Amino acid sequence: MTGRYEAMWERLNLDLDAHASLLEVLGKFYGDIYMSQQGRLRGMEYLDFVLSEIHGLRIQELQEARANGRKVIGTFCVFVPEEIVWAADAIQVGLCAGAEAGTEAAEKILPRNTCALIKSFVGFKLARLCPFIESCDMVVGETTCDGKKKAYEIFSDYAPVYVMEIPQMKCAADRALWKAEVLRFKQAVEDLTGRSITAERLREAVVLINQRRRALQRLNRLRAAHPVPISGRDVLLINQVSFYDDPKRFTQKIEELCDELEDKVRRGEGVADGAVRLMLSGCPMAIPNWKLPYIIESSGAVVVGEESCIGSRNTRDLVDESASNLDELLDAIVDRYMKIDCACFTPNAERLEHIVDMARELNVKGVIHYGLSFCQPYAMESFKVEKALQEAGFPMVAIETDYSMEDVEQLKTRVEAFVEMVR
Ligand code: SF4
Ligand code: SF4
Repeated sequence: MTGRYEAMWERLNLDLDAHASLLEVLGKFYGDIYMSQQGRLRGMEYLDFVLSEIHGLRIQELQEARANGRKVIGTFCVFVPEEIVWAADAIQVGLCAGAEAGTEAAEKILPRNTCALIKSFVGFKLARLCPFIESCDMVVGETTCDGKKKAYEIFSDYAPVYVMEIPQMKCAADRALWKAEVLRFKQAVEDLTGRSITAERLREAVVLINQRRRALQRLNRLRAAHPVPISGRDVLLINQVSFYDDPKRFTQKIEELCDELEDKVRRGEGVADGAVRLMLSGCPMAIPNWKLPYIIESSGAVVVGEESCIGSRNTRDLVDESASNLDELLDAIVDRYMKIDCACFTPNAERLEHIVDMARELNVKGVIHYGLSFCQPYAMESFKVEKALQEAGFPMVAIETDYSMEDVEQLKTRVEAFVEMVR
């Protein structure tokens, strides 16, 4: 890929040497973790292709779209309502932040005890490693956790940042605040793109994004079969790619993959005979953060569900499509996003209910709670999660880690012990 896209990366002001090293590590990592799996679905070839072109073709598409007057908007959180972006004919991309590269640069302007996700996105920008960040006309931050909130202040010195205020509770006053924020965001997107969002455009965008969520819901239903027909790693990858691929193309490809999966389920073919069914819950895992799922799936277990923003939290709820005018559509969007049960909310009883429901529906033997080091909201909430799961009869282990590889052996020992305990 390198030769073909070098001129484009240069125009985007990437540090070409550092970027080449990043791609090399990514390719090796991908080969070891993904390509080594046996009996994968044919449909995964599309995902392999997208990944192999992660900084190539998709970036080229974004550049072409920009040359034709479309705007690119980058986001870090599933709270940012995509429907508004697509309705203004802009393109939304998730800014992945799952690698350690750039951390050194980030630590020059952020405290060391900041979560890896924040350090990663700031580091990618400072070290000029991410063509997605460099392609954005607007980067949308949000006031979810304190770390992110303060990081965007610093990040705004380097990128065109817009910040949405996310409520911390779910009372009537919080909904009113969120509605005002959605309207303010709509105005900002209209100002950026020069296009006004009509009811018709917004309805189309709602349907477009709902279709993608429906395809991912279908995938989640199918993967829950006995025996497990697809590895957790592959599903994680699909969820990760959903954040930056074109939604229409992605939905079509995932529906095709689901057709194939359905046949596999009908034939009773599994990918992990005798493996212990586990669920992951907690912090999001951005590309290429595959460390823990890989460790789990090389320790006699298989991941059958992710209670995460890169997982069911992002796909569980649809926007009501029955609204008849612009204001009703906006209300439907406001209501759908208010259902998100991020640990940044207080109180957050819905999340506990969702986790227990998921564990039951997926028929898992146990849950692994994943927290990024220094992430207070999820670390704090993990105690409540464990209690709720225990009461429902599901064992849980809380794992805290970052993007480094130093603790792989230690994590493997803990995961193996947990798998043996619940088997
Ligand atoms: S975990 Fe919370 S802050 Fe992070 S992406 Fe999800 S909703 Fe946003
Ligand atoms: S992982 Fe935790 S600390 Fe890091 S950005 Fe998300 S909520 Fe904030």
